[in-house]
Amino acid sequence: MGGDQPYGMIEDGAIAVEGSHIVWVGLQSEVPAAYADWQRVDFGDRLITPGLIDAHTHVVFGGNRAVEFEMRLNGATYEEIARAGGGILSTVNGTRAATEDELLASALPRVDALLAEGVSCIEVKSGYGLDTETELRMLRAARRIAQERPVRVKTSFLGAHATPPEYAGRDDAYIDEVCIPTLRAAHAEGLVDAVDGFCEGIAFDPTQIERVFVAAQELGLPVKLHAEQLSNLGGAKLAAAYGALSADHIEYLDADGVAAMATAGTVAVLLPGAFYTLRETQIPPVEMLRQQNVPMALATDCNPGSSPLTSLLLTMNMGCTLFRMTPEEALAGVTRVAARALGLDNTGMIAPGLSADLAVWDISHPAELSYRIGFNPLHKRIFGGEE
Ligand SMILES: [Zn+2]
Repeated sequence: MGGDQPYGMIEDGAIAVEGSHIVWVGLQSEVPAAYADWQRVDFGDRLITPGLIDAHTHVVFGGNRAVEFEMRLNGATYEEIARAGGGILSTVNGTRAATEDELLASALPRVDALLAEGVSCIEVKSGYGLDTETELRMLRAARRIAQERPVRVKTSFLGAHATPPEYAGRDDAYIDEVCIPTLRAAHAEGLVDAVDGFCEGIAFDPTQIERVFVAAQELGLPVKLHAEQLSNLGGAKLAAAYGALSADHIEYLDADGVAAMATAGTVAVLLPGAFYTLRETQIPPVEMLRQQNVPMALATDCNPGSSPLTSLLLTMNMGCTLFRMTPEEALAGVTRVAARALGLDNTGMIAPGLSADLAVWDISHPAELSYRIGFNPLHKRIFGGEE
């Protein structure tokens, strides 16, 4: 995709791939003579897009929260569920009890569901261990996904996700004694591509998050943040001040936060799966983000509590239907902009020099990807030039 057409679409286009990379893209009628005798694959009238990118997931976790979902629908309150061992704590317990192999094995079916829809890159966060050993185990399992499946994996350290029970009421001590030392240990082991946090009344306040960001900065790691999901604590503004790759959720983001993100070039990662599951009503400020040219990505937020979602195509539909994004914005949000949210410049577009990560679809117009619900028109996935 390139050029001035909507979506940067090229009709009757051709892509030249050498090894794992794209070397040329343009009209079939203008393929350079140098490529004339190259092996050709004819995809007919099908649409080819960049491989999709899920820029925000928690696919590595232990346990299962389906029963909790059922309890809630049978009328149990959050407190009753928490007392029965539910909520994030049940995932923390399940994750702490799982071996690295078990974490990997339970993540792979979720990853496979994403790949079946043309995904070629996923971000995976830690944040259900909340102790050094388990956070490292989660990140090692995340790294191994890329050995087990043809997919790119970017990891985010999310030690500042919640305070574990053994530190209940001592959030500051948890950040200083566990979260930051664990970040340093994970970085030393090469397990961290970015550092994330959860800035919210039910999680950490901006001063606590800032200490984690300072530690990230000292290690030369980029930051991102779960911000303004349930209230406005100024998290996105803080993230922008640290040059964050992205601020995610941002339903309650205000004009100040939008302006800060625009100035810093921070991507807005919108997560309609969590909005849907939590039956939220406050929509992210999409029109303001658009006006201020803040790029918008869309991601599944796949996690066992607030977004048990493993379909990026459904996420695109939700982005359009729930958040009023356009199908063109939705497709950019799971390709080009998603790559930017992960700090990747070698994928997310069809352009010379980039990795040949492609999705071939049995459709003729890209709006169909966002329009249909529960339909997967993937014909073929190409990862690094390999089918
Ligand atoms: Zn999340």
